[in-house]
Amino acid sequence: MPSVRFQALQSVLNRTIPEVKMPSPKISDFYGANVFDKKKMKEYLSTEAYQSIVNSIDNGEPIPRDMADQVASAMRAWAMSKGATHYTHWFQPLTGTTAEKHDSFFEPTADGGAIERFSGDALAQQEPDASSFPSGGIRNTFEARGYTAWDPSSPAFIMSRTLCIPTVYVSYTGEALDYKVPLLKALNALDKAAVEVCHYFDKSVEKVNASLGIEQEYFLVDIALFNARPDLYLTGRALFGHISAKNQQLEDHYFGSIPERVYAFMQDMETEALLLGIPLKTRHNEVAPSQFECAPIYEEINLAIDHNQLLMDLMDRVAKRHNFKVLLHEKPYAGINGSGKHNNWSMITNTGRNLLSPGKTPKNNLMFLTFFVNTIKAVYEHADLLRASIASVNNDHRLGANEAPPAIMSIFLGSQLNDVLDEIETSRLSKKIKEDNTLWQGIPKIPQILPDNTDRNRTSPFAFTGNKFELRAVGSSANSASPMTILNLIVADQLRKFKTDVDKLMKKGEKKDVALMLTIKRYIKESKNIRFEGNGYSEEWEKEAESRGLSNFRTTPLALDAMVGEKTEQVFADTGVFTKREAHARHDILLESYYKKLQIEARVMGELATNVIIPAAINYQTKLVQNVKGLKELGLDASTYEAQVDIINKLSEHINFIRKNVEEMVQQRKNINKVDDTRQKAIDYDEKVRSFFQPIRYHVDKLEQLVDDTLWPLPKFRELLFFK
Ligand code: ADP
Ligand code: MG
Repeated sequence: MPSVRFQALQSVLNRTIPEVKMPSPKISDFYGANVFDKKKMKEYLSTEAYQSIVNSIDNGEPIPRDMADQVASAMRAWAMSKGATHYTHWFQPLTGTTAEKHDSFFEPTADGGAIERFSGDALAQQEPDASSFPSGGIRNTFEARGYTAWDPSSPAFIMSRTLCIPTVYVSYTGEALDYKVPLLKALNALDKAAVEVCHYFDKSVEKVNASLGIEQEYFLVDIALFNARPDLYLTGRALFGHISAKNQQLEDHYFGSIPERVYAFMQDMETEALLLGIPLKTRHNEVAPSQFECAPIYEEINLAIDHNQLLMDLMDRVAKRHNFKVLLHEKPYAGINGSGKHNNWSMITNTGRNLLSPGKTPKNNLMFLTFFVNTIKAVYEHADLLRASIASVNNDHRLGANEAPPAIMSIFLGSQLNDVLDEIETSRLSKKIKEDNTLWQGIPKIPQILPDNTDRNRTSPFAFTGNKFELRAVGSSANSASPMTILNLIVADQLRKFKTDVDKLMKKGEKKDVALMLTIKRYIKESKNIRFEGNGYSEEWEKEAESRGLSNFRTTPLALDAMVGEKTEQVFADTGVFTKREAHARHDILLESYYKKLQIEARVMGELATNVIIPAAINYQTKLVQNVKGLKELGLDASTYEAQVDIINKLSEHINFIRKNVEEMVQQRKNINKVDDTRQKAIDYDEKVRSFFQPIRYHVDKLEQLVDDTLWPLPKFRELLFFK
């Protein structure tokens, strides 16, 4: 029987491309068809109930009980008209994926019949059996219950015959157990703080929403090849594998024409996403072979994040129909680019103004500068916390690996805005203003259209791109809520401080505009060290960053310290986003997840090396030995089997190294598993277990180069990346 690898290769050869049908050639005909959006609410609800839910969506007002009943039965009627039989609260526990538990609408009646029912109670709150979700010690057994509660700001949707209701997830004692609760709190804090600052310029602003556009990178691999690689299906990345002779060196994949099989998958996935109201707009090939990207149009941030979580789930489901597997891991293949998830972020008022978009007039530019500089200052003050928010065992492979932004947080502005800030910093603005009272002349002119694509710096983790900041360091599999909660809360905190500072100057008798300008000027100076326009991958930057006092946390356990630092505790308390207990619980969960993932990788590595790789090498070696024996029997000179003997020796060398190191690694794991302190355990796993990965892999990959191709058990990188 051929090996799993060759069976897999055979199945790939036999693939046909499934036909993809769009519901209509016009996307606008079916966009959002599976979403209970405002339009459908209007159709299914009384005017009163509709108003009540719109108030809740737009202004966060609670929905009265009787209205909830109405909404629930309208939702059920709509969902049943679309063939749904079940409903579920859909939430985002700290596992990183989404969770759901389906209940049917069906209820038996006293007379032996049955009806379909969905009550306001069932819509508003559920009590999922929650003891198996991570809580970081928040849920002690006596208070083991967790609640999910309806989040009306994100509309319900139908996914394969189930009505899904986006919810928050909290413990019995009210602590957040999910990603959404802190995000909503942070957005609320930002809204309040930003509106107050807007009032210096425009009294008509009533609400500020953060907006987010998420670019999602991913790899595709044939499902048969994927299933033939236990490391891929157990850890999401290839733990072994010699780099393919051809990989990305010709730079011929990026923006290249999309392979037909992939194109069909994309169309199918996009159609499903559009039906769910996910506004996917962009698709293209990425840098690495078999790497792709999709991006929706930006949305209000809570919705954008729900949509991204949903999209990741959807991609996986649709891929199955095309015999693909989507790899969302940050670094599935060593030696070629990994995947990220760029978070494009800005703040937009209810009057439709993007606060990060430079205006036409100097007055508008002052408003822009206010929000722009406060964002820079916020990131400067809490760079470590932002770094912590993107830390994960997967992302450690990318950050600082000369392909993704480094682990050092810095901000790229582009030369034009950089000059503007320098000009303000060095100008004698305040004096001039006081004398002739023509403040606006003191503000440098900012052209409205900033150079965009020409002025891009891909090496920066946080870059200004014309009318938004782009946080590029987020990992492809991450829930964006984690960094976005932090970004929004630190900017909220900074804006509050700004207001206090400006008001103080005004109380001292400064004119408003002067007070604004003086504060901006001071902030520019104070936060200057985080601005960097050069090459973030370079060694010089590492040195310079150090001399500037910027942190460079290369690994997750150390990066996570910032989550429970003193400065963080203060900003969490001031903005009310995390209690101390919640912050510590999260810190613990992340550390635990870190070492557990390394533990799994180490185990898989050991098993594969011992049970798959070494036997294959020995098998080949035995063949060589038989060959040499035969040649000897024929009485041939030793020079005729010189190569064979050489290979036999080399095989032994690698086999011995692998075996010895796998055993040592196992021993280290045993020792570390006795460590109680979670942080120390995570650090030990990094320093004493993960340190074995590279050397073991090196020798396994050497074996891959030596062993007869027909005897090699695992699909090779060239097959994973190019065989379609
Ligand atoms: P790139 O060249 O990096 O792909 P794009 O202009 O295509 O940049 O935009 C990437 C993402 O940024 C898209 O999701 C887009 O909708 C989003 N975006 C554009 N403007 C804003 C904004 N003001 N706020 C948030 N996201 C935005
Ligand atoms: Mg981008």
